[in-house]
Amino acid sequence: MARDRIISIGELIVEIMRKRVDSPLDRPDDFVGPFPSGAPAIFIDQVARLGHPAEFIGACGDDDFGQCLLRRFEQDGVAADHVARIEEVATGCAFVTYFSDGSRRFLFHIGNSAAGQLPEPTPEMFADAAWLHICGSTLSAGEQMRQACYEACELAVAADARISFDPNLRPELLGGEEALRRVCAPVLEAASLVLPSADEAELLTGTSGAEAACEALLDGGIELVALKRGSAGCIIFTAAETVAVPAYEVEVVDPTGAGDCFDAGFVVGLSEGRRLEETGRLANACGALGATAKGPMEGCAFRRDAFELAAITEKESER
Ligand code: ATP
Ligand code: MG
Repeated sequence: MARDRIISIGELIVEIMRKRVDSPLDRPDDFVGPFPSGAPAIFIDQVARLGHPAEFIGACGDDDFGQCLLRRFEQDGVAADHVARIEEVATGCAFVTYFSDGSRRFLFHIGNSAAGQLPEPTPEMFADAAWLHICGSTLSAGEQMRQACYEACELAVAADARISFDPNLRPELLGGEEALRRVCAPVLEAASLVLPSADEAELLTGTSGAEAACEALLDGGIELVALKRGSAGCIIFTAAETVAVPAYEVEVVDPTGAGDCFDAGFVVGLSEGRRLEETGRLANACGALGATAKGPMEGCAFRRDAFELAAITEKESER
């Protein structure tokens, strides 16, 4: 396979989480961590565990948390040649707590940490790349990171790579819906695949109803939309067909990162030339398994386990 390199760019952080539910972050209580994290980092780790050439563009500090992240990439086979180590700046981190109603509260240290000092994208980074994955969380994390994503998109398109976009935006960091659409416009312009949740699809298009919003994305020139629906699986939209793929039943331990694992399964499925329904099964399997372990990246499935849950044999599609 000549063109099978998958790249992501963005925040590389550790996550530190409350041990107990319903424990607000404004008082002392026990934490567990650091766990490797950052939406684009979870994505790329899942790509590598599925056995694909995977490469990350990002930055961490020259400290122990940075070591934790780099060691994880090395173990799983994510190429980190374009991960800058920023001296005397701390590695990015996020503190998270869960509430019994299912909601989460994050405190982010991203834009003002090493994670926010992304290396300048260069044409060499994208030579022979198949896909570049962009996350809304990165676009929300500050001007430097946003500009680096836009540049990466331009260079990837020039290199004939395709762009996938997870609009996991943080509207509260962007000052409202209009600003959010403005920030996403350059990425949407370049993207061929968008992987939103229902409310993200609605926000992104200003359309009510998730399915109508996905159709609006197609009308806007997106080739493929994969709507993530938690325990209901996903619906895939193209101009030619709509394919609903049911979820796999699992015991959910920690849902953070399931969306990024799903994205990785989906992009890997497409890059292996698999049919849409099969690609949806692989993505659902990665999402479901992603939710079964504590820590955002800890549930990233290895190829054999994801394929087994999705009942895919290596030979099912012509590759
Ligand atoms: P996050 O942003 O927290 O990573 P998300 O909101 O982007 O997640 P979800 O829809 O929660 O995305 O999850 C992504 C995919 O993972 C789903 O489409 C589904 O395939 C799988 N998944 C998530 N939760 C479950 C669950 N409880 N049971 C089975 N599969 C799940
Ligand atoms: Mg998400």
